[in-house]
Amino acid sequence: MSRREDLLTWYHSVRRDFPWRHTTDPYRILVSEIMLQQTQAARVVPFYERFVERYPDVDALADADLAEVLSLWKGLGYPSRARRLREAARVITSHGWPDSAAALESLPGVGPYTAAAVASFAFGEHIGVIDTNVRRVVSRWHGVPLSGRRLQQAVDEELAPPADQWNQAVMELGAMVCHPRRPRCADCPVAESCIDPGAYQPPPRQSPFNGSDRQKRGRVLAALVDGGPTDLATVATSTAIGSDRLARVVETLEEDGLVLVEGGRIRLAD
Ligand code: SF4
Repeated sequence: MSRREDLLTWYHSVRRDFPWRHTTDPYRILVSEIMLQQTQAARVVPFYERFVERYPDVDALADADLAEVLSLWKGLGYPSRARRLREAARVITSHGWPDSAAALESLPGVGPYTAAAVASFAFGEHIGVIDTNVRRVVSRWHGVPLSGRRLQQAVDEELAPPADQWNQAVMELGAMVCHPRRPRCADCPVAESCIDPGAYQPPPRQSPFNGSDRQKRGRVLAALVDGGPTDLATVATSTAIGSDRLARVVETLEEDGLVLVEGGRIRLAD
């Protein structure tokens, strides 16, 4: 069998059962892909289910109150994703769904990866969905670190209809077997056609979340979601963030359009 056949056979026998794998609704695919951008799939599941139950379609999300959207996002991290997702919903309700990966990139918060994922999984576009997992796996197959045009070419050579299945399969291989630091080559369905596991070296580990500005941003947003508009001194007390750091954190939240500050008072953006 070819590498592609080996991969697809393996995928259909082991694939994990996520709710977004049971739908081709572009709205639900978009929600899942935005949530998956910086969060592991198993952690996303309960957030995704609560979110689409509360906002079952793009119109419901477009009408949603930001405080409520953020409360459903609480614990998932990177809350600016939630605001941009609601902005994307508003664009879609006004102008309809963009019908290609290239057009989907015009939506707020939607980059090339998310656009390709929605185009492939919802609209059946013949396109490779390239993320860091795919880059790692395909680089190892070819025995050289691939990026940009060369990576795109290598992915295009592997793709055959239906492309969505290959996209899901290669991402699953990256998530379950071809790990960044310790690939499980002995369990790999395509080991025979893989040239060099050392062709991809993972980047340094991320700095710890505890104590980071990202954690402080989450605390400020949680205080506003729970307590509503208030003054900055109250936020400083309730979150135990020093004034200099609070000013810096609030500035980044303002830049992301998540909060508004006026006359020493702070509230969630509309
Ligand atoms: S053989 Fe190893 S390095 Fe190559 S794709 Fe499989 S798990 Fe990854």
